[in-house]
Amino acid sequence: MTPHAEPDPQAGAAVKAADRAHVFHSWSAQGLIDPLAVAGAEGSYFWDYEGNRYLDFTSGLVYTNIGYQHPRVVEAIQEQAGRLTTFAPAFALDVRSEAARLIAERTPGDLDKIFFTNGGAEAVENAVRMARLHTGRAKVLSAYRSYHGATSTAINLTGDPRRWASDTASAGVVHFWAPFPYRSPFYSSTEAEECARALRHLEDTIAYEGPATVAAIVLETIPGTAGIMTPPPGYLAGVREICDRHGIVLVLDEVMAGFGRTGRWFAAEHYGVVPDLLTFAKGVNSGYVPLGGVAISAEIAATFDKRPYPGGLTYSGHPLACAAAVATIRVMEDEKVVEHAAHIGETVLGPGLRALAERHPSVGEVRGLGAFWALDLVRDRETREPLVPYNASGDAAAPMAAFGAACKRNGLWPFINMNRTHAVPACNITEAEAKEGLAALDAALTVADQHTV
Ligand code: PMP
Repeated sequence: MTPHAEPDPQAGAAVKAADRAHVFHSWSAQGLIDPLAVAGAEGSYFWDYEGNRYLDFTSGLVYTNIGYQHPRVVEAIQEQAGRLTTFAPAFALDVRSEAARLIAERTPGDLDKIFFTNGGAEAVENAVRMARLHTGRAKVLSAYRSYHGATSTAINLTGDPRRWASDTASAGVVHFWAPFPYRSPFYSSTEAEECARALRHLEDTIAYEGPATVAAIVLETIPGTAGIMTPPPGYLAGVREICDRHGIVLVLDEVMAGFGRTGRWFAAEHYGVVPDLLTFAKGVNSGYVPLGGVAISAEIAATFDKRPYPGGLTYSGHPLACAAAVATIRVMEDEKVVEHAAHIGETVLGPGLRALAERHPSVGEVRGLGAFWALDLVRDRETREPLVPYNASGDAAAPMAAFGAACKRNGLWPFINMNRTHAVPACNITEAEAKEGLAALDAALTVADQHTV
């Protein structure tokens, strides 16, 4: 079905019935969901079988950084499939080394070796393993209000409440509070105060745990799923300094923030910080074929020069995924997608979202940059009480559900998490599309406003 094809509700119903029969969905009570049947997608849009078209302000799960069905990437996958669809990871392969080179050239500092995985969680798992083997230490520190994936170590590192349900052992994981000026865990009143207190808290946590037991600090450069909280100036540089002083490996998780999302290739560039390990996935190939990885510093790579790295994956550096990465990175260069994301953030999304905040009492704060924005929705602007309580479900979550439904009625597919909506479209969204999204949000926010005090 193309965007111009006739609606076909019967076909849509059949797709839904087949889904209900056999697909077990992530993060869901299987009997309580009614997934939309998708007929197709192109650029910033997708459409269903009923004839509804949606502007995707989620870019999938924040990964279609160059939009859906980019012809050059589709063609590269087809070409690779015709040439060599698959080959085991132990062999040298042109497309794999080319993807690794293009990634290494764009990651900051001396992160010049790439270990490929199939996604973000596996990247985090392997980064932690590398850090533990490199330091000979066991503990790993990560932040509350974070998301690092749903596999065993990654879900334990995850600090948002989703870990509660599946957290079993938390072996070696210690959580700390990272800065968040709008909802400060340190009761700070300025960004500078928040930064200083957060760094002191991290120092205290390390001192209490014992610096010689801490292998790594794992941090999202800009926490994504948990709220797109840009760190105050100086925080990440301060964390880097703490890590250096104690011989702790700094892992920056850029699974969501990397590959152009923030208007730079990697968000770490905004803060002038080079981690020892950097995890990536999603935008590396716009999610066309599953791919993630760890970019590794020269020092940590040297640890495994004569001693084997005890880890690997059957599909590490899969040719189809690497072909998609090579094509995606070339598209991003040729079409200046990274520069475009910075520009659209500065000129359209940022100003447009701030204008919405002025008109709508339900918007407590607008945060973000590039194509990476959050609206923190509140019941009360004064007290900053969230529009729905943390981890609300059922009736308690109804105001956000009503807001989401209003977005969809206005042709916008929204990202919603607790009391937040994120504006995270494709990084190459056009100015006209971005404005269309802002207009839909404007209409939907009047519904959220009805739930303010
Ligand atoms: N780290 C971060 C920062 C993420 O945003 C995500 C996914 N949202 C992950 C890790 C896990 O990635 P995946 O779902 O590909 O395992």
